[in-house]
Amino acid sequence: MAFYLDTPHERIDEMRETLRDGEVIAAMVVPLSIPEANERLERFGTGRMYEDDCEGHVYACRNFDEATRLCKIYEDRPEMCRAYPASCAGGCEFSCGYAPESNAQR
Ligand code: SF4
Repeated sequence: MAFYLDTPHERIDEMRETLRDGEVIAAMVVPLSIPEANERLERFGTGRMYEDDCEGHVYACRNFDEATRLCKIYEDRPEMCRAYPASCAGGCEFSCGYAPESNAQR
C-alpha cells in the first residue's frame, strides 16, 4: 500500500533503464507525499510510519487492489515484488517470521 524506493519521484523515468523489470515498475509506481503514505499505512493497519526524510521516495502501486488487497498482476509481478520480504534488510515489516533459507535460524 506504500513502499520506499531508492529512486526519487523526479527520476521515475530512470527506473526503466536502471531497475530490473524497470518498464513495469516505472509504469506502476504512484508518487506519494509522506502524509499520503502514512495515511495509507494507517488505513491498512500496518503499524508503521515513514519519517520525513523519506520524502520524495515513497510510492503506492497502481496494481494493488484496495478492495481485495490483492495484486492485480500477481502472476506477472516484477522481481522486486517476488523477492519481498527477503530483499529487505529488516525482513518482513509485519514480523511474519519469514526468512530466506540462507538466513534461516535453526
Ligand atoms: S506485488 Fe503487485 S500490488 Fe504489490 S507492489 Fe508488486 S505489482 Fe504492486
